Amino acid sequence: MNRTTSLASLKSEDFDICIIGAGASGAGCALDAALRGYKVALIDRKDFASETSSRSTKLIHGGVRYLEQAFKKLDFAQLKQVRHGLEERHIVLKNAPHLARPLALMTPVNSWFEGLYFKIGLQIYDTFATNDSLPKSKWLTKKEVLAKIPTLNRKKLHSGVLYYDGQLDDARYCLALAQSAAEKGASVANYIEVRGFGRDNKGKLNAVEALDVISGEKLTIRTKLVINCTGPFSDHIRLFANPLLTERIRPSKGVHLVLPYDTLNSEYAMLIPKTPDGRVVFAIPFEGATMIGTTDTECDDIESEPTLNEDEKQYLADTLNPYLAKPIQPDQLRAGFGGLRPLIAADPSKSTKNLVRDHEVEVDEASNLVSLLGGKWTTYRLMAKDTIDQVDEMLGRSNACTTADHVLAGGEGYVFDAWQKLVSQYKLPEEVAKHLVKKYGSRATQIGELVADDLSLGERLSARYPYIRAEVIHTVRNEMAVIPRDFLARRIRLEITDWDETLNSLPVVADLMARELGWNQEEKQRNVDAYASEIRKFVSDAQ
Ligand SMILES: Cc1cc2nc3c(=O)[nH]c(=O)nc-3n(C[C@H](O)[C@H](O)[C@H](O)COP(=O)(O)OP(=O)(O)OC[C@H]3O[C@@H](n4cnc5c(N)ncnc54)[C@H](O)[C@@H]3O)c2cc1C
Repeated sequence: MNRTTSLASLKSEDFDICIIGAGASGAGCALDAALRGYKVALIDRKDFASETSSRSTKLIHGGVRYLEQAFKKLDFAQLKQVRHGLEERHIVLKNAPHLARPLALMTPVNSWFEGLYFKIGLQIYDTFATNDSLPKSKWLTKKEVLAKIPTLNRKKLHSGVLYYDGQLDDARYCLALAQSAAEKGASVANYIEVRGFGRDNKGKLNAVEALDVISGEKLTIRTKLVINCTGPFSDHIRLFANPLLTERIRPSKGVHLVLPYDTLNSEYAMLIPKTPDGRVVFAIPFEGATMIGTTDTECDDIESEPTLNEDEKQYLADTLNPYLAKPIQPDQLRAGFGGLRPLIAADPSKSTKNLVRDHEVEVDEASNLVSLLGGKWTTYRLMAKDTIDQVDEMLGRSNACTTADHVLAGGEGYVFDAWQKLVSQYKLPEEVAKHLVKKYGSRATQIGELVADDLSLGERLSARYPYIRAEVIHTVRNEMAVIPRDFLARRIRLEITDWDETLNSLPVVADLMARELGWNQEEKQRNVDAYASEIRKFVSDAQ
């Protein structure tokens, strides 16, 4: 993925489809459409996955809570969603094994009856997952539970039910989708903001008017169709295209609290089955930390970044603490982040908790704008398939969707054991080599080559983490990292796991980016100052 080459083609070529928004929905659509032979443009006003798609709980799941709701309310639509989610779980894990893997989740219970309830529920969940080989759920004794998660509060604990779902690195998965689309011919660029549309004499959209946010240059992208994949911001684009449309999205904020790994001190995640407001909360090991989340609150302000605030921090700590032998302390907070669910408004009188997390492909007859609304990470591929099927119909083509079997960038020929080759061939420490294959898959050797050429690039960015300098160079050259936050928040995940170390690593990251991107001292400092002040705001919002 090369931004300069993409920009040149966006300005000069004619496209079949221009996709606005490069989160899970847009990147998924771009890959599906490119594989069907369409000439595709994919643009985002910020970075790939910079909004909701990098701020999820990172679970690939059918949704145990939806299963419970489906039975309680005899709601077969929810049951269907659970089944679809579980079918997709298998495909998400299979097509990018370096970025998604099975995750064991423990549900601690306080009585025999509760244990039976969850065991039956999770057994039904197992039977819905017909196409994968994830281990089945198991009811464990108190002793077995404590052996797996030693930090749990043993006083109230009766036993626990263990089950499996998928976990992914959401930001890198989205990037792999965009990269794979680019490798199939799509013109892909970040930091291109849509400001308006061109139309033909019947009022149908035939061009996208955009701004290159980095250079300030305006550009026109000529296209037969426009797909709106802007998630929580979908109504903006819908109303740009047709001011007569009514709003459909009811954004809901969800935050995560990030604590040290030893909070659970386990590779097992924990499902807290019932919060006082009737939801579930997860505590999940991720990148050497423990992520606790999430919340669900209606949110009107979608322009400001949804950060973790003091009340939300307290709510999550209060939810988790009864399950821990030692309650967490405020100074243990490592980081936090928030995202906006792009829920579709079904009935304005209902709260967001009761809205169904489903998707819809909407076609505005007046402008021809296609909008992909709602959905979740787990079903991004189905959402993309439905959208591009609709495009096929509109453009009079009929192509088979092939994404179910398309291995994503870095997944080709991936074997986890490849870390051993990195150790022997490039003299990288085991921890670093394991990290590189988990993030870059079979392309980790490209980073090894950089280190072989310049040994200083093998140095760590932080003594506490396996991230190395060569990754900055690699991601600028091959993954379109444009500013330090692209690298620190999404190419590696340091920002969402450790604010202190993000600030400590920033000067070196900026130095390396300056070298690659030709920034002068002033530009470099501007980048450092801007990002450092964003991180300081996250810290102060959470206090
Ligand atoms: C807290 C939380 C936890 C979640 N956990 C899970 C989970 O565990 N599992 C799961 O399956 N799902 C989960 N989800 C849901 C999932 O993350 C989202 O459904 C999904 O990421 C939405 O992707 P999207 O591409 O539609 O939206 P986004 O990722 O928000 O992408 C929209 C993009 O559009 C761009 N854009 C906006 N306006 C413009 C413009 N004018 N010009 C150009 N670009 C523009 C934005 O910059 C953005 O990148 C969670 C969601 C939240 C909030």
